[in-house]
Amino acid sequence: IRDRLASFGRPKRLLIIVNPYGGKRSGRSIFQNEVLPLIEATGILYTMQETKRRLHAQEIAHSLDLRKYDGIVCVSGDGVLVEVVNGLLQREDWETAIKVPLGIIPAGTGNGMAQSLLHAAGEPFSISNAVFAIIRGHKRALDVTSVVQGKTRFFSVLMLTWGLVADVDIESEKYRWMGSARIDFYVLLRVLNLRRYNGRVLFVPAPGYEEVGEPVERSTSCKQNGVSTGSHEDKANDRNGSTIGYPGPSIQEADLEWRSLNGPFISVWLGNVPFASEDVMAAPKAEFADGYLDAAIIKDCPRWDVMGLMVQLKDGAYVNSPYVEYFKVKAIRIEPGLRVGRNAKGGIIDSDGEVIARADEPEHLMAYGPPIQLT
Ligand code: ADP
Ligand code: MG
Repeated sequence: IRDRLASFGRPKRLLIIVNPYGGKRSGRSIFQNEVLPLIEATGILYTMQETKRRLHAQEIAHSLDLRKYDGIVCVSGDGVLVEVVNGLLQREDWETAIKVPLGIIPAGTGNGMAQSLLHAAGEPFSISNAVFAIIRGHKRALDVTSVVQGKTRFFSVLMLTWGLVADVDIESEKYRWMGSARIDFYVLLRVLNLRRYNGRVLFVPAPGYEEVGEPVERSTSCKQNGVSTGSHEDKANDRNGSTIGYPGPSIQEADLEWRSLNGPFISVWLGNVPFASEDVMAAPKAEFADGYLDAAIIKDCPRWDVMGLMVQLKDGAYVNSPYVEYFKVKAIRIEPGLRVGRNAKGGIIDSDGEVIARADEPEHLMAYGPPIQLT
């Protein structure tokens, strides 16, 4: 009986989505050499599909016959997993679709979700540990956050960031040939020529964090520029312009107590899970399904202190710095301003590795609503 119980949650039929392009382009060989032997040895039936282009995984998840599988596994970086989440939430039957267990086997440059899951299970980061966790049917619930900007909506499971971290994540793409050194190199470059961003973040603090920042007058927190925090009446569309699927959280803004922090900022970072990549612990106290996002905000700070913070990203110790505000929120809105100084420009807003907005127009607003859960 014990054996039966232990095997009860194990998957029998999996859809395995492989990204041959991500990371060091090793998705295909990881699948062949490290995933397939274990899957076949345990008698799990599978269908493998390679992604052919950007957003292909999202299309697959959107039109998939879910009765055929009891799990979707991505052999990829975080990007393809996020596409699958978005594809499922855009379905007419999204409420049942999000009950399908998802798995990730790290094969990308950014493997924050795989690292977060393995770390939480007390296991070292490795491809085979990720495969074993899937075979065993190890599951946990995960919050999904709705990111809304004007009429655009995006569902995020990892992070939202603006300022230094977004600039490094996105602008360093052109140094991909450097391999993993590109991030360290670009951090150094950015710190030497540090950008400070004006602007403001508004947030609804989680219990225990009501003292962070300043209280906000109701009239200024609500409905600025006609954007509300993902409420139904806003009828935001997803990236494909569809209004079918999960409509986003319904929030009565007037019932929430908003607070604010004012720039200039070095970096605004929101994490849903602890790790942003294998060795960057962005949000050390983040939990998968607590209903909150962890905010780590680096305030204006001397250049060499920023360098010190970047060195402490590995174990998350940077959040203890007096230059960092670390707290949990139910919802957050970013009102990005321009860079401090001449040649003022707006920054990039990056969610889960995707550029959500280029904030060259200061009236751009971002809202990050409270989450729903994948169970
Ligand atoms: P990484 O962590 O290296 O960024 P991801 O798996 O997150 O790897 O994928 C990165 C991007 O590659 C995603 O935006 C995805 O849509 C895209 N992609 C998937 N398949 C292909 C392909 N065949 N050609 C080009 N891009 C692809
Ligand atoms: Mg959380």
